[in-house]
Amino acid sequence: MTAKDRARLAAERLKALYPAVSELEHADPFQMLIATILSAQTTDRSVNSVTPTLFARYPDPAALAHANPAEVEAIIKPTGFFHVKAKTIIGASAALLERFNGEVPSRIEDLVTLPGVGRKTANVVLGVAFGIPGFAVDTHVKRLTRRLGLTKSTDPVKIEAEVTKMLPPEEWTGFSLRLILHGRRICLARTPRCPECVLNDFCPSSTVRARGGRRPLTATTTGVRLAHGRRTARKRPRRPGTRH
Ligand code: SF4
Repeated sequence: MTAKDRARLAAERLKALYPAVSELEHADPFQMLIATILSAQTTDRSVNSVTPTLFARYPDPAALAHANPAEVEAIIKPTGFFHVKAKTIIGASAALLERFNGEVPSRIEDLVTLPGVGRKTANVVLGVAFGIPGFAVDTHVKRLTRRLGLTKSTDPVKIEAEVTKMLPPEEWTGFSLRLILHGRRICLARTPRCPECVLNDFCPSSTVRARGGRRPLTATTTGVRLAHGRRTARKRPRRPGTRH
């Protein structure tokens, strides 16, 4: 199976497993931008628990840009790193107001100039809020794309360039966001839960082979042939702490 085959099959399986690409609740690009910044190092559920209060009090960049940092910190505290995050979302709102007329720009070149916004956050906002394809690469995507044998690189820009060549643009946003979800829930950094993983019958880093053998391929992957039979022996589990 080629890397492109694995990318397409993984995208399809993860789409079935995680139908919603983002669980961050938002009503417009501004809310998506702020929610994405707040989602660093925490769960979407935690972000969703604070954003209704935050956006009721500060509904637009003008309101948040002039907010009292202590008040913002108190609201977003459950998301962790609240001091830095409050400073960042107030700064990003001020930049939107000063340089983009209070609107969230829809070009990655502009988005990455905002405080706290790197390519990963920019790609998430572009894909989810504007429907513009983007492949966000965070620590989970870096780990999973390497384990799945889609890249050998650790450079986010190179990973983005390599994986986006393997999939049609309409799959980029969904695949990257689903890899993030899968990395948080199943393909954990230290102890990947391979026995529970829907990709374990073709993932080159799987510590197990799926019970019951090959899963049925779907219409869009009928040309993909799985490499079963070549390595059916159970691999020894990696020791905790070993790099994958
Ligand atoms: S089979 Fe294991 S290593 Fe491969 S993606 Fe799934 S959890 Fe990660």
